[in-house]
Amino acid sequence: MTATMSPDETPLELSGVELRQLVDAAMERIIPHVDSLPSQPAADVAGGAELARSLVEPLPEHGVPVSEVLELVFERALPKSFNTAGPGYLAYIPGGGILHTAVAELIAAAVNRYVGVWIAAPGLAQLEANVIRWFCGITGFGSGSSGFLTSGGSLANFSAVVAARRNLLGDDFLSGTIYASDQVHHSILKAAMLAGFPAGNVREVSSDRVFRMRCDELAAAIAADKKSGHSPLMVVASAGTTNTGAVDDLQEVAAIARRHGMWFHVDAAYGGFFMLTERGRRAMRGIEQADSVVLDPHKGLFVPYGTGSLLVRDGAALKRAHAVGADYMPPMQQDEDLIDFCQVSPELSRPFRGLGVWLPIKLLGINPFRRSLDEKLDLAQWACEQLKQVDGMEIVAEPQLSVVAFRLTRPGMDTEALNRLNRDFLDRVNSRKHVYLTGTLLSGQFTVRICVLSFRTHRDRLEQAMEDIRAAAAAVLGG
Ligand SMILES: *Cc1c(COP(=O)(O)O)cnc(C)c1O
Repeated sequence: MTATMSPDETPLELSGVELRQLVDAAMERIIPHVDSLPSQPAADVAGGAELARSLVEPLPEHGVPVSEVLELVFERALPKSFNTAGPGYLAYIPGGGILHTAVAELIAAAVNRYVGVWIAAPGLAQLEANVIRWFCGITGFGSGSSGFLTSGGSLANFSAVVAARRNLLGDDFLSGTIYASDQVHHSILKAAMLAGFPAGNVREVSSDRVFRMRCDELAAAIAADKKSGHSPLMVVASAGTTNTGAVDDLQEVAAIARRHGMWFHVDAAYGGFFMLTERGRRAMRGIEQADSVVLDPHKGLFVPYGTGSLLVRDGAALKRAHAVGADYMPPMQQDEDLIDFCQVSPELSRPFRGLGVWLPIKLLGINPFRRSLDEKLDLAQWACEQLKQVDGMEIVAEPQLSVVAFRLTRPGMDTEALNRLNRDFLDRVNSRKHVYLTGTLLSGQFTVRICVLSFRTHRDRLEQAMEDIRAAAAAVLGG
């Protein structure tokens, strides 16, 4: 072969016909897979280590037929997993996986335009900027606000900490302290560490009986730190904790942060999009006073994993925290209404995430999302009422959003024995494989939780969950 190849000499260039064949071949696998999601086990990872090791392979020198590759992915690798896209996934915080976004991502990757800098694709960058504007609108942020799409909530929380640090403290920031409740997501601690803070600078504020941050303790902790020479930097409130879906008193936290000139951040990665509903808006009153907010479209907007967002009330603050130039870069936009995503975020080259949110919202309008989120709130409430009727069941946390936390109790049993009993209970529910639930520790007590967030979860699956829960409860309580 010569050094200069014509297009049909390199398999790296697919012809139109070949592209269509490849997509068709993938579709032949994708469609039956998606159709069978409801009947697939809710989780099945037994033998996962053996499977993983059996898939180790050297760098292939030559290609193999597409049928073989798809068979490996769909028949061997895929089945052993949590069925995160299925209706029975009620664990952790469920993701989504609307297929409109899968198509958008195909388009985004196929056109492969560059949206990291505005000048490289002004129109496409604007579509993504529109998504950010919509999110700011949902949050109640005004015209000076800004933000960007991230890979997820963890990275968005990281950028929020960096923005707070760079705007409020100088390079000498090690006296800066960060406050969050004992229910906050662990990505905040990780974010603080990655942003250069010693782990000890993150102050854990205790929570009340419904798992909301205690504002009296928050105020006391800030006062004590000021006295001892620290620089209280940032308060992180949760709008939907992972454990129980608890929403902190955002208005009160906002007032405390303002009083001390601190950055007020709201981690609404899970709960934020409930603001599309009447009940969610009520629960999150005060969020519009935040300096920054994290929303995860790959949770509450049901798009596939890989899209989170950070919104900042003062867009200029976000830019101050991130803008770094270089001689080989094209000119950046100076107009307030045009955005270079590389100037407000850690990334330069990046996927065109915006299309994956923009396209489904344009195709469907926001209403189907709103209705589905309302349904999730109803389902969690319904599950809670049903759980109350199970003998020996204690509701540990009523739904504030779409999480309900519960455990079995038995008179006279100590904590350790009860924890064992509830772990056994959880295992029995999950072993039926209709639903997959997870547990957590709340004040040292092992607690089971249901989190309803998948757009594919409806009443029928919750009824199945209740049947499995009643059977498992009866079995472990010996009833
Ligand atoms: C899921 C979640 C995160 C982390 O988001 P990722 O998208 O998984 O990185 C942070 N905070 C809360 C409250 C969450 O629910």
